Amino acid sequence: MIRVLAIAVAITSVVIAATFIARAASLASPQRPADAKVLLVPAGAPIPLLEESYGDSDMTPYAVAPPGGVIVQPGTVRVPQPKAPAGPRKVGIQVGHWKLDEVPDELTRLVVQTGTTWNGVKEVDVNLDVAQRVGALLKAKGVAVDIFGAAVPAGYVADAFIALHADGDGTGENSGFKMAHNARRGPFEDRLLQTVREEYAKSTKMDYDGLHVTRSMLGYFVYNWSRYQHAVSPYTPGTILEMGYLSNDDDRAILVDHSDAVAAGIANGLLRFLNETPRDQIFGKELVVPQLPLRSPNPSAP
Ligand SMILES: [Zn+2]
Repeated sequence: MIRVLAIAVAITSVVIAATFIARAASLASPQRPADAKVLLVPAGAPIPLLEESYGDSDMTPYAVAPPGGVIVQPGTVRVPQPKAPAGPRKVGIQVGHWKLDEVPDELTRLVVQTGTTWNGVKEVDVNLDVAQRVGALLKAKGVAVDIFGAAVPAGYVADAFIALHADGDGTGENSGFKMAHNARRGPFEDRLLQTVREEYAKSTKMDYDGLHVTRSMLGYFVYNWSRYQHAVSPYTPGTILEMGYLSNDDDRAILVDHSDAVAAGIANGLLRFLNETPRDQIFGKELVVPQLPLRSPNPSAP
C-alpha cells in the first residue's frame, strides 16, 4: 500500500512538475526539450523521484531543484554546472550556530540548536574564533574567504567549503575530532575531508573519532542541496568538521588555549586541497546523480 502510494505521489509530482515547467517554458522561453523524456525542473520546484521502497522510514521522499534547476532524464538527475568563481581561489567557512536570527524561513525550524556549552565555554565562540583565524591564514596565502553563520547564500559557489562545530557528549569521556560529507554531491569531497583530516591531526595531535560520526553530520543541511535552496552548490566541495569535544578536558584545552594550532591544521588542509585540485577540475564536469531520494538521514543541524 505504501508502495502504491509512493508511486502515486511520484506520478503526481511528475505531472505537477511537468505542468509547471510547460507553463514556465511557454512564458519564459520558446525552447522545450526535443526529447519528451527530458524534464527541466526549475529552482525550487519538486524533482520527480523514482522509489521502490522506503523500508521502515517514515520520511516522505522529497527533493527540490537547487538554484539553476536540474534536468531529469530516466533514472538520473543532471545538475548543470554553475558559473565558476572568478579571481583568486575561494573558500567559504561556516561558523556553526552563529547568527541564528538571520536564517531564512526554510531553515528556522531546523536550526534551533544553539550549540554545546561546557565549563562556561560556548561552542559558537570557539567556532567563530577558529573560523576567523583560518580566514586570516588563508587570506595571507591569497585565498578569498567568506565567513558565514548558520545561513549561507542559496547555491553558494566556491573552491571549498568547511562547516566548523565543536562537540559535547555530556560525560567528558569522548575525545577527538570527527568529519563527514553528504551524499549526492561532487566527486571531490572525499579528498577535501581526507586532506583536512590529515593536516588537522598533524597540527592538533588529536585522534580521529570515527565511531561517533552522526546522522546529523552526514545529512548536514548546508550541503543538502535537494532539500534547501540555502545550501552550498553541489559543485562546491564541502565537509563538516567537529573539531573536538568541549566536554573533554584535553580537547577543550586544545580548542581554547591552542586555537592557533587548530586553525593552522584546518588552513593547511584547505590549502593542500586547493593545490591538489585545480578549479577547472571542480567545475569542469557535469554532476549526474541517481533519480532517487537520499536514503541517509533526516537533514539536521549538529
Ligand atoms: Zn555544533
